[in-house]
Amino acid sequence: MNSIEGKRGYPRVKPPFPAQNGLWGNPTTINNVETLTNVPPIINKGWEWFSSIGEPKHPGTLLFGVSGHVNKPGVYELPTGTLLTDIIYKFAGGVPGDKKIKCVIPGGSSMPPLRGDALEGIKMDAESLRAAGSAIGTGGIMVMDEDTDLVKVLARIAKFYHHESCGQCTPCREGTGWMLKLLNRIVDGKGASRDIDLLVSVANNIEGNTVCALGEAAAWPVKFMVTRFRDEFEAAVKEKLALEVKNKVHSMRSTATPIANIEI
Ligand code: SF4
Repeated sequence: MNSIEGKRGYPRVKPPFPAQNGLWGNPTTINNVETLTNVPPIINKGWEWFSSIGEPKHPGTLLFGVSGHVNKPGVYELPTGTLLTDIIYKFAGGVPGDKKIKCVIPGGSSMPPLRGDALEGIKMDAESLRAAGSAIGTGGIMVMDEDTDLVKVLARIAKFYHHESCGQCTPCREGTGWMLKLLNRIVDGKGASRDIDLLVSVANNIEGNTVCALGEAAAWPVKFMVTRFRDEFEAAVKEKLALEVKNKVHSMRSTATPIANIEI
């Protein structure tokens, strides 16, 4: 709306919401195309018809964009409440090489990730995913197999949100940059154990303290990926520590005077 009005494209502080006070002060509807395309069939066929599709508390169909380690990535329109495992294995053709799944992000890159060993029975609708500790978000399902480096995945996600931050509020502008720096440090083998807690602390300080939802969108993947896959992050910083110790021992050995050469 700000861009259309010729202003800098900053998100607006709400309330007032666009439905009350939007473009040039008029009531404005802002929705995605997926939502608006549901309107004509609901008007033509009635709400009872629409409510009979999918889960009663979140009826209708959703466009699930499946990407990552699946044989048939694509967009699948399915009723809400379809099992996540059915979408991955029945519709998207399963995981290449029949590898195990390490992680699935069920609702786009900002939604909390799920562990691959806990996917059974999870339905793709708002309530079921909330109960599973995630959220339906955009319905963008990202599948990662057992060989995926989750630290690198998170660094890539953090890079996206840092780039997308408009810079209007300090926690998002600075925090997204700090999280990216910390993650890159761990990816480059220069991270320390304290960096893992620092990541969560920065994410917590962004959450709830910004003008628009991009703040949470940037904070949640970091907070939940680190919390749910802490072993991966610990391993990444321990590898660095092990390498440092090995190098130190090696340099001590190469500079030490052989015992046979010591004059007594
Ligand atoms: S949360 Fe981020 S993207 Fe949203 S207004 Fe603040 S700085 Fe801009």
